[in-house]
Amino acid sequence: MLTIVVALAIAAAFLFETWLDWRQIRYVAAHRSQVPAAFAGRISLTDHQKAADYTIAKKRLGTKQDVASAVLSMVLLVGGGFALLQSGIVATFGSGAVGSLALAGVLAVIFSAISIPFDYVATFGVEQRFGFNRSTRALFFTDLLKSILLTLAFMIPLVLAVDYAARQLGDAWWIAVWGILVAFNVLALLIVPTFIMPLFNKFEPLADEGLKARIETLARRCGFHAKGVFKMDGSKRSGHGNAFFTGIGPAKRIVLFDTLLETLAPGEVEAVLAHEIGHFRLRHIMKRILASLVVSLAMLAILGWLSRQGWFYQGFGLDPAVARDMPFAGLLLFVLLLPLVSIWFRIISTYVSRVHEFEADAYASRHSDANDLASALVKLQRDNAATLTPDPVYSAVNHSHPTIAQRIARLAVPQ
Ligand SMILES: [Zn+2]
Repeated sequence: MLTIVVALAIAAAFLFETWLDWRQIRYVAAHRSQVPAAFAGRISLTDHQKAADYTIAKKRLGTKQDVASAVLSMVLLVGGGFALLQSGIVATFGSGAVGSLALAGVLAVIFSAISIPFDYVATFGVEQRFGFNRSTRALFFTDLLKSILLTLAFMIPLVLAVDYAARQLGDAWWIAVWGILVAFNVLALLIVPTFIMPLFNKFEPLADEGLKARIETLARRCGFHAKGVFKMDGSKRSGHGNAFFTGIGPAKRIVLFDTLLETLAPGEVEAVLAHEIGHFRLRHIMKRILASLVVSLAMLAILGWLSRQGWFYQGFGLDPAVARDMPFAGLLLFVLLLPLVSIWFRIISTYVSRVHEFEADAYASRHSDANDLASALVKLQRDNAATLTPDPVYSAVNHSHPTIAQRIARLAVPQ
């Protein structure tokens, strides 16, 4: 019975995702022949068509990856693959902490075996074809190796701590696991911007004197420490330009890609920066963290309850004694099931994110020039070959940012 429900959930999630992708491809293709009136004269037909082709190529690859993921979920959750792995691991490594580590490790390897080839094709296939890729194969594999080592360094202690809590702390173990996740998240926000990101890219203070003075004035006006503004060598891997705000406390920083600094005029850089400072002043990161903590507490409470139900294990072909002998296996099973549920709530998180983007835009137009922000957005859109005509339903579910037409309309800039 449970297997049928899970099989239907996997099929429904896959069909929903594929339906959205299909809508997006169809919509973008249908609007390929003409630049939308609002952007006539600002985006050329060639750029518009490149954006359409690029969007469709990425989506086609994404659909193939969705197929691979759905098949893997079926094998693991419906075909008894997870139970087979679990018993194999117990027979080899025992059901102690080493067994938990091995099970998590094998699953990580299986999922990477799907995602790494797709990343490779995305980088050296699609990105390359549209002239965005600046990475080399050597860099790609060095990055991969660094990521694997970092994952091991962080995941081994995390798995061991969670495994310990699940074995030793009785029925309320999931509250302890939540505490561990909170600590882990705070740690990540402190060390990722300051120690991890510099392992992959170079971060420097802005060198341009004129720009620096402008940014310092803006930062002072907005109550942000100008020392937290960095230029990143994004051009090392890709021609895409971007800017983002990350970190908390002493680790908070605004990062501007060198590729973005190359194309934007000083006033436009200032407006983009004002938008990012807006995210900081309006506490968007904090709000997202708090929301995710509440959601994860609710999820873990459900897991805490499920982990005491024999049918939960039996439904996936596991021995219910696993609850006592290897509780971590129940948690991994739960993690595999989560995306089947969370997909239906994605629209909430992207909606909130879009509200935050509008708020940061409004902040930027109060503290810098709305016209500059609008023209920066158009340039970014053009240089990143982002489509001007996404499917409205696809966009509502998947996009963390409002469409550029919506953003410019809100900025109330005369066209
Ligand atoms: Zn933003």
